[in-house]
Amino acid sequence: MSKILIIGAGGVGGVATHKCAQMADVFDEVWLASRTKEKCDKIAGQIGGGRVKTARLDADNPDETADLVKKIGADIVLNLALPYQDLHVMDACLKAGVPYIDTANYEPPEVAHFEYSWQWAYQDKFAESGLMAVLGAGFDPGVTNMYCAYAQKLLFDEIHYVDILDCNAGDHGLPFATNFNPEINIREITARGRYWEEGKWIETDPLSIRTDFDYPEVGVKPSYLLYHEELESLCKNLKGLKRIRFWMTFGDKYLTHLNVLQNVGMTSIKPIKIKGVEIEPIEFLKAVLPDPASLGPLTKGKTNIGCVIEGLKDGRRRKYYIYNVCVHEECYAEVKSQAISYTTGVPAACAARMVATGIWKGKGVFNMEQLDPEPFLDAVSKYGLPFKVVELDTEKSYNLPK
Ligand code: NDP
Repeated sequence: MSKILIIGAGGVGGVATHKCAQMADVFDEVWLASRTKEKCDKIAGQIGGGRVKTARLDADNPDETADLVKKIGADIVLNLALPYQDLHVMDACLKAGVPYIDTANYEPPEVAHFEYSWQWAYQDKFAESGLMAVLGAGFDPGVTNMYCAYAQKLLFDEIHYVDILDCNAGDHGLPFATNFNPEINIREITARGRYWEEGKWIETDPLSIRTDFDYPEVGVKPSYLLYHEELESLCKNLKGLKRIRFWMTFGDKYLTHLNVLQNVGMTSIKPIKIKGVEIEPIEFLKAVLPDPASLGPLTKGKTNIGCVIEGLKDGRRRKYYIYNVCVHEECYAEVKSQAISYTTGVPAACAARMVATGIWKGKGVFNMEQLDPEPFLDAVSKYGLPFKVVELDTEKSYNLPK
């Protein structure tokens, strides 16, 4: 049996805590710690039965985190705070001698830039300590990496082309809101696009390449090419890969709001001084936008996230589409959260289950696709996110540009 410490009582932390609490066969104690303890207590109260214990924690302080790990005797840490905390929590895990899992790669607060290099640099430290760190165990990154790993293991000898397609067709009825942390979300979308082809990164203007893809159970949606963090590890870890791209759907209303906010400077991370107080405009924007957690009861509709993968099997061309469809209202009925947090929190809890049970073992820092996809995807399906594998016609483009 394991004791897990979950850090971060936001949308994702809430779902992962519900799911770890359901895994009584693996986790005999579930702790939730965050900057605001009241948020932990609220989630613990929803779960009930004294199943979840809570604590206040500043995860930017590695000593404080390591002390808490030791005090409660946790043997695994699931970091669901913000990407800014990643390195601090990794340091704390090394100090306390426990494995580490997260769902988003490190991003320095002062630069709108994320990449794995900072966390990959911990490879030797984790390996020498005999500990495992699992990076990007949400849906994308996370499950999408595992759809590729599953395809590599069972469906292909060589994967040549991957298109990751992320569609949120949910509607919360509000004029503008982001589905998860607004600061992280807006920084990701307003950055220049990028995809990988034949060993090179190709940059594109933000949201300048669009395709209309027909998502099963959702319909045709405008989808824009974006850079997304799983591209960085998948282009290294998939055998024979020639190209990998990422697409995300945005409605016209959302993009109009975003354009205006950007044009007036509200998405900037450069601090400005107002009445003697320094503030980043995007931080102010975050404070006036709806809290993503408040969207849960309002959001109706479905998400569809998956991968179209093309390559060779036994010398023949094959194309498969592997995807999950998740229903916002059903997530809310189950764990009081919308599908974006649900699709991230369920895999995070399942990754913790893989590490806690020793199904995944290793020393060092791992991206998801370097681990066994089958037991993980079985657990993810069982805990709420089943997937479909559909064979596609290799002669058809399905509107994905050549
Ligand atoms: P939220 O903003 O809803 O929650 C973040 C939580 O972390 C808050 O409770 C916050 O506390 C807490 N926190 C922030 N700083 C600290 C700190 N220094 N010490 C302790 N706690 C802290 O974010 P989400 O739940 O939406 O997202 C959580 C993570 O999941 C993010 O890293 C996000 O990028 C990632 N994510 C990954 C996805 C994937 O598919 N891979 C998809 C969606 C999100 P407070 O309440 O006090 O502010």
